[in-house]
Amino acid sequence: MNNKKNIFQQILSKKIITKIIYEDNLVTAFNDIKPQSPIHVLIIPNNFISTLNDINKNHELILGRMLLVASKIAKKMLIDKDGYRVVINCNKNGGQTIFYLHMHLLGGRQGIKFFF
Ligand code: AMP
Repeated sequence: MNNKKNIFQQILSKKIITKIIYEDNLVTAFNDIKPQSPIHVLIIPNNFISTLNDINKNHELILGRMLLVASKIAKKMLIDKDGYRVVINCNKNGGQTIFYLHMHLLGGRQGIKFFF
């Protein structure tokens, strides 16, 4: 397990103190430390999954919950009407730098491009 992967696990175990925006039995959401847009939230499963390549049928509920929570947070942060982007990066060519599955929720300004 590398250090980058550990970062999100340390957030979940409260070893790194981060304001948690949302948490339930399956997923947790917090602000990205280096936001690429006015609203930049990361949504992660509570149990470790490294990349999108590692999902299987047992993860359907978690993956569905990640999207549901993205939509909920977008409404709560009032970016739903103007719109937003959700992104999952996978491995090197997908721009994944932290090997703990996460969904980016990006919004708050127009024309957010695929910049990861
Ligand atoms: P990715 O490139 O898809 O793997 O995205 C990883 C994201 O995690 C980047 O947008 C980083 O800014 C973000 N990040 C790294 N460390 C932290 C941290 N301690 N708290 C919140 N976000 C982080």
